[in-house]
Amino acid sequence: CFSRVRSAMENLRPVVLSGPSGAGKSTLLKKLMGEYDNVFGFSVSHTTRSPRAGEVNGKHYHFVTRDEMQSSIDGGDFIESAEYSGNLYGTSKAAVHAVQKNNLICILDIDMQGVKSIKKTDLNPIYISIQPPTLQTLEKRLRDRKTETEESLQKRLKAAEEEIAFSKQPDVFDHIVINDKLDEAYEQLKQALMEEINKVKNI
Ligand code: 5GP
Repeated sequence: CFSRVRSAMENLRPVVLSGPSGAGKSTLLKKLMGEYDNVFGFSVSHTTRSPRAGEVNGKHYHFVTRDEMQSSIDGGDFIESAEYSGNLYGTSKAAVHAVQKNNLICILDIDMQGVKSIKKTDLNPIYISIQPPTLQTLEKRLRDRKTETEESLQKRLKAAEEEIAFSKQPDVFDHIVINDKLDEAYEQLKQALMEEINKVKNI
């Protein structure tokens, strides 16, 4: 019945995934969207950083210049934005609406500054932190990935220490997933999201 459908859709809470660069957020997200392609939709952020090999404009990010991005921020087009490792990143209102209008659960992959900003909005997401088992593991993963210069890597490791400390504060995250073994982390992530997933399946 129509009203049941509408109330189920209105109750779909977005999901914020946060945690240090290299913790495995993108890998877990890819797995999740692969298994549940008609349940979740990714909020495509804007960034001023350059695309990595394999990254597609409009899919992984909207890659823009700093001038373009700053004027959109000034124009009020963004829910949140932050400076991270020398670049601007942000979630536009349009990115979230594009997912929600298709009745999908909107997933935001954002840093801790983004989490703090989103907490001040009425988005009311489920907050999930993806953490590495140790800082050493994280460094190894980031190095093995070979996507960063040494300078960028050092900035990310510094940010990671703050992200790890932030995740330990009480009442910030609803769920914390330690990504030691990918399959186990994925099961934990799914478990954390099952209530929302079932809402979509029941629509
Ligand atoms: P990367 O350059 O590795 O893709 O992303 C670097 C960091 O920026 C990650 O922690 C990622 O979660 C974060 N990030 C990506 N998009 C956004 C965004 O729209 N807003 C905020 N605040 N952080 C973002």
